[in-house]
Amino acid sequence: MAKPKIPKNKQKKIAKERIVTLFDQAQKQHKENQSLANRYVFLARKLAMKLRLSIPLIQKRQYCKHCYTYLVPSKNVRIRISRGKVVTLCLSCKKFQRIPYKKQQKEKRKKRITQKINQRNK
Ligand SMILES: [Zn+2]
Repeated sequence: MAKPKIPKNKQKKIAKERIVTLFDQAQKQHKENQSLANRYVFLARKLAMKLRLSIPLIQKRQYCKHCYTYLVPSKNVRIRISRGKVVTLCLSCKKFQRIPYKKQQKEKRKKRITQKINQRNK
């Protein structure tokens, strides 16, 4: 007998929650078992690929995009800021990841300015 089918959008909703919980578990487990944390990342990625979801931005920053190891600041990743970018060096594969943050800065500035204008108008 075939399994009862769950609608695709519901599947995606469940998968999203599962991805977040997998990363939570990875955070809890990495101290004792780094390889288990890596496996959680692997499972989350596999799930996202199967349902063609994008991994949420916060979770996306928590693993290396080259070797998919779970990254723990000060333990297996070095994080520096240079020229408007956050540069992370994964210590297990020795590769860089560069994440620009100028866009967020611009948005913040815009928000601040609009808030000021609104206050003046009051
Ligand atoms: Zn790596």
